[in-house]
Amino acid sequence: MSSKIFKGIWIVALSVFLASLVFIMGISYNYFTGIQKSQLKNVTELAAQGAADAGMSYFDDLNAEGYRITWIGADGSVLYDSEADTATMVNHMEREEVKEALAQGYGESARYSDTLSDKQLYSAKRLPDGSVVRLSVVQVAVWALILGFAQPICFVILLALILAFVLASRIAKKIVQPINDIDLNKPEQYYGKENYKEVEPLLRHIAAQQTQLKRDQEQIEKTSLIRQEFTANVSHELKTPLHAISGYAELLENGMVKEEDIRPFAGKIRSESSRMTKLVEDIIELSRLDNGGAEMEREDCDLLRIAENAADSLDAAASAMNVSVSVEGTDTPIRGIPQTLYSIVYNLCDNAIKYNRPGGSVTVKVVPQNGEAVLTVSDTGVGIPEECQDRIFERFYRVDKSHSKEVGGTGLGLSIVKHAVMVHGGRIKISSEIGKGTEFVVTLPNEPKEMLSEEEPEYYA
Ligand code: ADP
Repeated sequence: MSSKIFKGIWIVALSVFLASLVFIMGISYNYFTGIQKSQLKNVTELAAQGAADAGMSYFDDLNAEGYRITWIGADGSVLYDSEADTATMVNHMEREEVKEALAQGYGESARYSDTLSDKQLYSAKRLPDGSVVRLSVVQVAVWALILGFAQPICFVILLALILAFVLASRIAKKIVQPINDIDLNKPEQYYGKENYKEVEPLLRHIAAQQTQLKRDQEQIEKTSLIRQEFTANVSHELKTPLHAISGYAELLENGMVKEEDIRPFAGKIRSESSRMTKLVEDIIELSRLDNGGAEMEREDCDLLRIAENAADSLDAAASAMNVSVSVEGTDTPIRGIPQTLYSIVYNLCDNAIKYNRPGGSVTVKVVPQNGEAVLTVSDTGVGIPEECQDRIFERFYRVDKSHSKEVGGTGLGLSIVKHAVMVHGGRIKISSEIGKGTEFVVTLPNEPKEMLSEEEPEYYA
């Protein structure tokens, strides 16, 4: 970059210099021609005076020094010429400067002479007897002027080249140095500083990108950490029932279980296996939702019907807990993924039953409202402490770990609910009172917006 700036400055400086030189030469040329003309006029006046006073004898031994003097008689015949033979010369009456001198006393012109090849300046003066003294001189040619100036011009050009070289390299360095000195990690510190005014938009752009990069980096790190935690949690959650199963199986294998205990042992193996199955099913469901439900088909469905089905399938669980479940509301059409909508109601109802008290109740309500479908699941259960309400949607987060395991929870239910709601572009609200009960309100738009990919890391929350 520095060499490019250097070249640019150098070329510009030289071009300006050469253009100025040509301009100055033009002005000088005009100036010299002017001086030459006025000198010619003075000398002509003197020569005319001399010829008028002394006649032809004035021209004897006259040293004209660079001037050509012609004396033209009143009839136009050439009486004297300092450079050409008068006998061979034509009548000079028609010459422009002569005509002008005859008419006005003095005349001048410039042209290429017949006898000489250079451009000549002519001036003529009428004498009292009607004759005309004419002087001519070779006009200084441009090339002659340049030649005359050659030495100083070469010197100036050389000086200008050196000066332009030194200045251009200094300026280039001065421009590039502050840019090279920029600490790209802290572009903000240069805002408003003298040397950085021109590059401030660039600095701001870099700062914005740095912030974005930092954010992306943090997000990636957070996601990776959450993934690691999730994997560790999954392994831990799977290991517990697996250990139990293999322990029971080992006791049975070694014949260490009394005949009457075999059935309860088999029952324990079965319940641990179904815990594992439930966990694996939940993980599969979550990973499907992690993709934003992209490959899942959306259909027109009725949320009330889905809620009734989910409640029905939890009938046995509700009876076992001595909890009554009622579904109310009106037909609520919604376009969504039936299986995922079912998951929402199922998991909320499942929790409402699991964390209830014997004789308690669960109410599921589905209504359309302002073009949205609103699902409310309320229970008369243990409630959720306020400080835990933000965290219950995290994977494997449980308010009361042992109670959750006791009632067969995987710790993934609300996580599934949250992501299922997100896939449908909806929102979820919770209100709860310890010892009184909890209410979840899920609002789903009828035409869900597609999930945005940047929200993806949120899934792991
Ligand atoms: P789990 O499988 O343990 O039920 P969830 O993700 O479904 O996992 O719920 C997370 C935690 O939130 C539960 O362990 C429980 O402590 C609490 N919770 C969820 N729903 C309710 C509810 N309706 N009443 C009281 N606590 C609840």
